Amino acid sequence: MFESVPLAPADPILGLTEAYNADPRDNKINLGVGVYKDEAGTTPILASVKKAEALLLDTEKTKSYLGIQGVPEYGKHVQKLLFGGDSAVIADNRARTAQAPGGTGALRIAADFAVRNLERKTIWVSNPTWANHAAVFGAAGLTVEKYAYYNAETSDLDFDAMVESLKGAKAGDLVLFHGCCHNPTGIDPTAEQWQVLADMSAQAGWLPLFDFAYQGFATGIEEDAQGLRTFLSNHDELLIASSFSKNFGLYNERTGAFTLVAKSADVADTAFSQVKVNIRAMYSNPPAHGAKVVSTILGNDDLYAQWVAEVAEMRVRIHQMRDLFVETLADKGVDGDFSFIQRQNGMFSFSGLNPEQVGKLREDHGIYIVGSGRISVAGMTKANMDVLCTGVADVLK
Ligand code: PMP
Repeated sequence: MFESVPLAPADPILGLTEAYNADPRDNKINLGVGVYKDEAGTTPILASVKKAEALLLDTEKTKSYLGIQGVPEYGKHVQKLLFGGDSAVIADNRARTAQAPGGTGALRIAADFAVRNLERKTIWVSNPTWANHAAVFGAAGLTVEKYAYYNAETSDLDFDAMVESLKGAKAGDLVLFHGCCHNPTGIDPTAEQWQVLADMSAQAGWLPLFDFAYQGFATGIEEDAQGLRTFLSNHDELLIASSFSKNFGLYNERTGAFTLVAKSADVADTAFSQVKVNIRAMYSNPPAHGAKVVSTILGNDDLYAQWVAEVAEMRVRIHQMRDLFVETLADKGVDGDFSFIQRQNGMFSFSGLNPEQVGKLREDHGIYIVGSGRISVAGMTKANMDVLCTGVADVLK
């Protein structure tokens, strides 16, 4: 039976890492996958995570199953991170959180919830967006529509076009927003633009789904939740998919969260009961380790302070690499204004390189970036900057 199964295309981003690993060149550079690297080019375990793990090793008494929604105190901590400690949503007990296997798992839970329980089965995503969004939502059975986002001429958000295309979204449609550090463009709405979007959404009756994979990588833990909190101020209902892969460096522990906000505690309980039924049928209950680490850190003042400082360190290093990249390109005599790279947030920069230039970077220089021209700034270091900019200067000639 299996002979008739056709070969699937390689994943555009993970396939790139495979090609990179097979490249024998010494000074090859992988700026494809979104993984934070420190100045030494490694992806270390955060010190706060190591301490939490030591505590857990000492105190954990059982490996018995978790409940369907995961580590009991996890939801409370996640909600505080998302909404702020003094949030009315928390005081009114209107949110329910399920631990999820990564941000991807949380997005899938959100999509399944919509497909199984809501009338509208359409989700609007930005053009462009994270390559896996369409796959995750499509697999769950949602129809994926696109709204305008990026203006290639100005390397900026095309807010007017965004608003215009979102006028096509109907009441009840899901509309996906990147909480901060839009992937792949690195461009986020301003506070005023968030307000316009929240007002439009409240008026039109959309169901916003916030994909929050980089909290703390733009400006700060609290500041980065501004868009979400603006929506919370005029929405009774919304969904959030959190990922702690990047900001806790817990990539392979698959640590994320699905959060549902409802009009009242009762409605939240009822809606969440359906989420639990779905999780039970998908993977029964989640793995414990990553969520216990996150809960331990968020529940301990000293570890929390250390974690906030570690996130700041990652954020600052990435911003420094943006500056150095732009400076080094200028030093190499590359024409053009690349200052937009310094204005972008998060791990990625939408470089504007075309597929031909991306191919040449890889063939001639061993520099691997995604075909869309997205560069993972988090993989740049002082040590690889010269080779990188020499390559970019060459393909831009
Ligand atoms: N959403 C966005 C925008 C992302 O960039 C990522 C990770 N690349 C995810 C979701 C998925 O996160 P996770 O690895 O935790 O599944």
